[in-house]
Amino acid sequence: MATTALITHPACLSHDPGKWHPECPDRLRTVLAALEAEEFAPLLRESAPLAATEQLTLVHPAEYVDAILSIRPGDGEIVQLDADTAMSAGSAEAALRAAGGAVQAVDAVMEGWAQAAFAAVRPPGHHAETRRPMGFCLFNNAAIAARWAREAYGLHRIAVVDFDVHHGNGTQDIFTADPNLFYGSSHQSPCYPGTGYPHEHGCANNIVNMPLPPYSDGAAFRAAWMGTILPAVDGFAPELLIVSAGFDAHKADPLAQLKLETNDFVWLTRELVALADLHCAGRIVSVLEGGYDLAALAASAAGHVRALMRAT
Ligand SMILES: [Zn+2]
Repeated sequence: MATTALITHPACLSHDPGKWHPECPDRLRTVLAALEAEEFAPLLRESAPLAATEQLTLVHPAEYVDAILSIRPGDGEIVQLDADTAMSAGSAEAALRAAGGAVQAVDAVMEGWAQAAFAAVRPPGHHAETRRPMGFCLFNNAAIAARWAREAYGLHRIAVVDFDVHHGNGTQDIFTADPNLFYGSSHQSPCYPGTGYPHEHGCANNIVNMPLPPYSDGAAFRAAWMGTILPAVDGFAPELLIVSAGFDAHKADPLAQLKLETNDFVWLTRELVALADLHCAGRIVSVLEGGYDLAALAASAAGHVRALMRAT
């Protein structure tokens, strides 16, 4: 079994986007509870640090970082940034820990104290653009992790793959003009945020989108990855694989209409681990994105982590 790091922080539970908001603290609680099972005892448990300003500004302009961190709602107060995205008193620290957790996951696999790392953090990140919070996201955790891998460790080619049911418009926007960053995504279409068409292919075919119609099942999902995204990752030959791991394509999820089952996420994770073995000396980093049915999220995240651990 490969050493796998689990990186999280209690501050990620203190981001409260509002009473009825689907991106609720119980999401992370239920994932962490599932990872308390005996089979996960071998996980190397680490506390997510605060991201440093110089890490955040690898993706976001300093003015944007300052603007987000200067929003300091009082206790019980919620500040809406857009219709879906809000901050509470604990949000600034949660966002810094979420980005810091993704950065530390890169450190874990690059420094070699873990082969795989899962950052169980919130708020999620893949909708956040360089200058715009969006879709429950404040900082783009996966994109920051990718740029950090280049900045701190001199990697040349880094891939982010995203199986969240929503297209990661933010990650695509950040990567599209950079031929050494790859972004591959399957997602429901039509669905929020309305981006992610196949003709959006980046400056060097470094963006690969596979939209799936509503009610697509696991077979369609596997075909999209087998036929298009996994071969594109293979061709790109990244030195590090980063996963935007959202579990809202599960059939039980209330936010979209794909029909995946837990085993579909396990299957894809195993395929990604195999690609990491082929190109990245086994290095694979995963960062939690969406997933809004608590039971499906917990079971799917547990299956994902089990596959990262290479447990059978
Ligand atoms: Zn999502």
